[in-house]
Amino acid sequence: MIRVTNLVKEHTGHRILNGLSVEFPRGKVTGVVGPSGSGKSTLLRCVNGLEPFQAGEVAVGGVRLVGGGTPPKATLVELRRRVGMVFQSFNLFPHMTVLGNVMSGPVHALGKPAAEAEATAKRLLDRVGLADKAAAKPAQLSGGQQQRVAIARALAVNPAAILFDEPTSALDPRMAAEVMRVIDDLADDEQLQTTMVIVTHDIPALRRVADTLVVLDRGVVAYAGDPAAAPPGYLDHP
Ligand code: ATP
Ligand code: MG
Repeated sequence: MIRVTNLVKEHTGHRILNGLSVEFPRGKVTGVVGPSGSGKSTLLRCVNGLEPFQAGEVAVGGVRLVGGGTPPKATLVELRRRVGMVFQSFNLFPHMTVLGNVMSGPVHALGKPAAEAEATAKRLLDRVGLADKAAAKPAQLSGGQQQRVAIARALAVNPAAILFDEPTSALDPRMAAEVMRVIDDLADDEQLQTTMVIVTHDIPALRRVADTLVVLDRGVVAYAGDPAAAPPGYLDHP
């Protein structure tokens, strides 16, 4: 479970997040929508400790970030281990193989033995339908395949949460559907219990996978709840 309380984020005197509070329940998929510039990416970056913020609090399980100061390095390291991030632009390590990409977190961040990390990576690649691409380099894969590797890599450190910032907007509809199918499959896994937050403009996909919908507007939450009960307009004009 992720809890954000009264989050204030400013850039050069301009308020981006204006006392925003929201909860992302454990093991559920929360869709986040809102107009361009409403603060969706900024919210994810604050939750992942990538952006300092002026006031308020972010709590991921027992790890807390409090606004207004510089968080202790150990807190940031722990937070980033618990919260995986998947971006629009894949961000794979280009010089490593697909298998190497998925093994990198367990080996470097968790200090796992290579054999164990490799077994985990192979299992996850199988799960995202890419067992046969383990030896390939990212550049040899399609965008949809690269994004599925990025998801496997995020899962490899067994995070409490994964934040997706427009994971399908660089993909054609067929590849986007493949990626959303993988996310849906993870969401249905009772054992995994990963908290998932997806910022997307793909409203039809969101209707299929999201348990909860959060609508941001000018740095605050305009709606949070059942996607089916969202006021008309919120899902029609993301
Ligand atoms: P989009 O749908 O276009 O991705 P978003 O909801 O993700 O939009 P953010 O990227 O979070 O929006 O940006 C929110 C606001 O913060 C925007 O007005 C943006 O210009 C501003 N902003 C973001 N990063 C910075 C920065 N580093 N410096 C100054 N302003 C910034
Ligand atoms: Mg954004």
